[in-house]
Amino acid sequence: MSIQQTISQLANQCVLCGLCIPHCPTYKLFQTENESPRGRISLFKALAENQIKVSESLFTSLDHCLTCRACEKICPSQVDYATISNLGRALIASQHPEYQRSLKQKMAEKLLVTPSLHPLIKLSAKAVAPFQSFIGKNLKDVNQTESGSQSTLASIGVFSHEISSDASFSSPIKNFYPAPEASFQIKPGKKKQVILFKGCSSDLFEQQTLLDTIKLLNACLFDVYIPEKQHCCGAMNHRQGDIHGMKKLAKENIKQFKSLLQESQAIISITNSCSGQLKEYAKLMNSLDSEAELINEAEDFGQKATDIISFLAQVIKIGHLKFAPLTEEKSQRIGVHIPCSLKNVLKEDQILFDLLENIPNIQLIKINDQYCCGAAGSYMLQYPDIANRLLDEKIDDVIEQNYQTIVSSNLGCSLHFKQGLKNYEQKVGRKIEVIHPIQLLARQLIQSPQVNKTNVVLEN
Ligand code: SF4
Ligand code: SF4
Repeated sequence: MSIQQTISQLANQCVLCGLCIPHCPTYKLFQTENESPRGRISLFKALAENQIKVSESLFTSLDHCLTCRACEKICPSQVDYATISNLGRALIASQHPEYQRSLKQKMAEKLLVTPSLHPLIKLSAKAVAPFQSFIGKNLKDVNQTESGSQSTLASIGVFSHEISSDASFSSPIKNFYPAPEASFQIKPGKKKQVILFKGCSSDLFEQQTLLDTIKLLNACLFDVYIPEKQHCCGAMNHRQGDIHGMKKLAKENIKQFKSLLQESQAIISITNSCSGQLKEYAKLMNSLDSEAELINEAEDFGQKATDIISFLAQVIKIGHLKFAPLTEEKSQRIGVHIPCSLKNVLKEDQILFDLLENIPNIQLIKINDQYCCGAAGSYMLQYPDIANRLLDEKIDDVIEQNYQTIVSSNLGCSLHFKQGLKNYEQKVGRKIEVIHPIQLLARQLIQSPQVNKTNVVLEN
């Protein structure tokens, strides 16, 4: 089936009821049909059936979609909005190369998703770190006179700051972390090993979360393997309509993980959006009419793919881990950001609360989650004005609640929150910590748990 036929067939399932519309963040901001899910589905269908032509304004309305998938979750007809949108973007990219992202935008994305180029970012982050406030101010000034590309630079300026504060400059991440009791097995022949998917940017921004993930998995008696030649999950290519680039990355990851897959219980990612993308490799391959062998391999891969939140919530009790209570009253109240990928793609938002409730005295309060926060991968670089307008309500909520710490299990959302909180932090001289929930758990972990070996039973 051609891409056009697939779009048309999927779009025909939409009964135009409009129930999805109030859940769409861009409809909330723009209040027009073209900025709603129902409108976009009709536009993609009309494009696929050659009933309309692409124009600048039509392209913008379609491209404004954050792929948050709130519409998909609420839809009673189970319309596969993500596939319609991704294939629709691919159709436009192939037929209308004139509608492209700016060169600066492409360069920024390329830098972020290509680990071999990260030494460049790290070096520049190191060089600019002492001048952060000066750079931030000047980029902000330029930003007011020229939108889009300069905002991209401003955002990257903030990201540089996160690199210099989060990551060391010589990576401490190795390829294999044996569990302390790796030789111990209750059931002979049953391996306790997992594969860690680092993705493209966690080495750059989330080294502490990677190390904490390994610490917790080891404490649950899992050996952790990290394939050296792994690639970006492909989500960013996918959103930009680069389905061939996305497929190439997926194929490479499947190939690199293949030899470890059989013996491993899971492929674990620390970022919800990557977990969602890895889980959906087979669906993506199917939508591109890929060869049967690749679809089968993608299915095996996807079945083992999971998020660290979901995996730990299952195994933490088996590992009999103990966590120290949060003692100070102020530090007990934690603001919880629920990323769209956790809520609408993995559909596991409750599990984050279950996991964190292992920490005694913790009080978890959900941050306003009515709409997407606006991060949406590289969206916050591409459309910073929209992204910031969507973030504002959440920032107001965080400030009103006076949290010391907020947690988010998606890298892009964390960076977006950190950027959004900067003004407030400078004004009041108080920093609000934005961390991955795994960091919070690892901090409270009581070391050397007295695991009763005979009680450890691993479930597949
Ligand atoms: S996508 Fe679903 S909820 Fe939205 S208009 Fe179509 S059928 Fe209704
Ligand atoms: S994915 Fe999100 S932004 Fe896009 S149409 Fe659906 S609800 Fe709106």
